[in-house]
Amino acid sequence: MDAHQDTFANPFSMDADCTNCAALCETRTSVVHGYGDVGAEFLFVGEAPSEAADAAGVPFVGDAAGERLQRMLGELGFVRSDPDSLEPDIQNAFLTYLTRCRHPERPPADEEVVTCEPYLNAEIRMINPQIIVPIGQRALEELAVEYTTRRPDSFDVDAEHATTIRGRGFELIPMVALDEQTDEQSEAFVEHFMENVFSRDYRQTKGRRSR
Ligand code: SF4
Repeated sequence: MDAHQDTFANPFSMDADCTNCAALCETRTSVVHGYGDVGAEFLFVGEAPSEAADAAGVPFVGDAAGERLQRMLGELGFVRSDPDSLEPDIQNAFLTYLTRCRHPERPPADEEVVTCEPYLNAEIRMINPQIIVPIGQRALEELAVEYTTRRPDSFDVDAEHATTIRGRGFELIPMVALDEQTDEQSEAFVEHFMENVFSRDYRQTKGRRSR
């Protein structure tokens, strides 16, 4: 954790009672803002909280999908806690969503993604990561609009899983949605990070920062 950081959960003190999306206020348990190291070089962005994340108030914890990500983060050296921890001990990574409130019966509507975007943009601006990992097709398309010059519909998360896409200001390394991911795809993701990210100077596009 950054020396000036008190908590991993919602470290920027974003509105924990946000009511900007009327329908989601009715269905959510928690507003699940970002979680992690505010000095992170790696930002992981999913579509919306799972039922378990909504209950815990922490992104990507409490169910098989969350444990899959936590296990991969452990293999990559970002997390020291067990994969079933509800409060991961995380370094150099930050976990967040396009929308922070859950509807149990449907994915977020387009206007809800747009309404929630200022929170994500603020996290990205304050963290200023080197690499963004969009998790799932929706996150990939949304981030592609912002950070690449390609058309969003030219991205296919299955085809681009565990590859590096050069973007404007950031590199994107897409990941298949956790509840659809096979063990082989998880292994391929970790392998890509080890062999194609950690093995090179991934900071060179933005200049080194001292940590
Ligand atoms: S999804 Fe985002 S903008 Fe909508 S109510 Fe939740 S925190 Fe607010």
